[in-house]
Amino acid sequence: MSRLEEVPETLDYVKIAQEQSNDDELKKQISSNTNVLFEKFLVIGSKEQIFCDISIGHSRPYIPLHYRKMVFDSIHHLSHHGIHATAAAVAKKFIWPSVKKDCKKWAKTCLQCQKSLMYIDTFTHP
Ligand SMILES: [Zn+2]
Repeated sequence: MSRLEEVPETLDYVKIAQEQSNDDELKKQISSNTNVLFEKFLVIGSKEQIFCDISIGHSRPYIPLHYRKMVFDSIHHLSHHGIHATAAAVAKKFIWPSVKKDCKKWAKTCLQCQKSLMYIDTFTHP
């Protein structure tokens, strides 16, 4: 079994791994024939195992429903890069069925992003 590395330390992977075992969506993904390729990884410093997708060459932990917004926040709040860049950044590191759609939805409602857009607008169109 491989070890899970290069993941943000702000997320509790032990809890995410535990939540995965109750996640019906994940069970469906594993048993269905998608492009996703799941493998179990050991969470460093624990005995928990976490499912990650390895189909794109590096491991992307599967994020259960309750942790998705948290994962989005952990990446988006670093830089407020905008809707598409945030969705791409999250989808590069994590996986769940509607990852890009969810991230775009949340980025659209980010107040800080809306404020900076308003600033650009007044700046370019006085
Ligand atoms: Zn933002």
